[in-house]
Amino acid sequence: MTEVHMDLLFSRERIATEIARLAGRIDEEYAGREILLVSVLKGSLLFTADLLRALKTPAAVDFVRLASYGSDTQSSGIVEFRYNLETPIRNRDVIIVEDIVDSGYTLEALYNKLLMQEPRSLKICTLIDKRARREVAIEADYVGISMEDGFIVGYGLDFDEKYRQLADIYLVKPEETSLP
Ligand code: 5GP
Ligand code: MG
Repeated sequence: MTEVHMDLLFSRERIATEIARLAGRIDEEYAGREILLVSVLKGSLLFTADLLRALKTPAAVDFVRLASYGSDTQSSGIVEFRYNLETPIRNRDVIIVEDIVDSGYTLEALYNKLLMQEPRSLKICTLIDKRARREVAIEADYVGISMEDGFIVGYGLDFDEKYRQLADIYLVKPEETSLP
């Protein structure tokens, strides 16, 4: 694959600031409790690691891996569970940790699936809330950064499995993705 053109959108400093703020809010709201972070692989890898380090609240971590069929940049609405939780979540205070909410299909499928396992509470924390293409009515309880539209990479987010390792978040030029 050829290199794509990208512009810096959210710096590592901005990301760190927002994560500190999110962790502060979670610490306040879950004071005296223990939480379970359900990290959605692979995109949330770095966010989960940094959020975990920023939290004072005792937190366990488990992982799910979801894939939605469709093009690289657009969700089809069909969500496949490729890897499931090992931890029973019944009566636990659970927070889903997502990299980005776009159409909302992925999150809705995961949220409903976890809800059936009767956690004591279930909240959603996303680093990025992409508003323009939302197709289902689902809102994250904790949002790091809101943006309108555009395809982003870096800080765990990939394009064709590349660029996850970048410490900052970049906006990819639209003509270089299969975006309409
Ligand atoms: P949704 O089901 O909300 O449409 O899609 C959520 C998933 O699509 C995210 O967890 C992420 O893996 C992927 N995604 C959505 N928007 C972007 C984006 O701008 N950049 C990257 N790299 N992935 C995205
Ligand atoms: Mg992805």
